[in-house]
Amino acid sequence: MDTLPQCTAKSKQSGTRCRNFTVKGKAVCWIHGGKSTGPITAKGRDKIRKLKLKHGLYSQDAIDEQKQFRKLLLNAKETLEKISDQMNS
Ligand SMILES: [Zn+2]
Repeated sequence: MDTLPQCTAKSKQSGTRCRNFTVKGKAVCWIHGGKSTGPITAKGRDKIRKLKLKHGLYSQDAIDEQKQFRKLLLNAKETLEKISDQMNS
């Protein structure tokens, strides 16, 4: 007979691992959040997203902004080169 999986949570006080059985399909027991379904509403998901964000340097918004800035710089460089060519000719 297979042994049932045990909770992976660790006690903050004693440092020992919880020995309860897990909720089916989860890594932890019902005491340690096995019954949790996670954030459901859009407001709740947004709150979690904000809590998990550390600095946002690699967020999709920041990456898109960098790409736009690079395009802008490239356009400015091309424009300056065109003006320079017109002045020299
Ligand atoms: Zn547990």
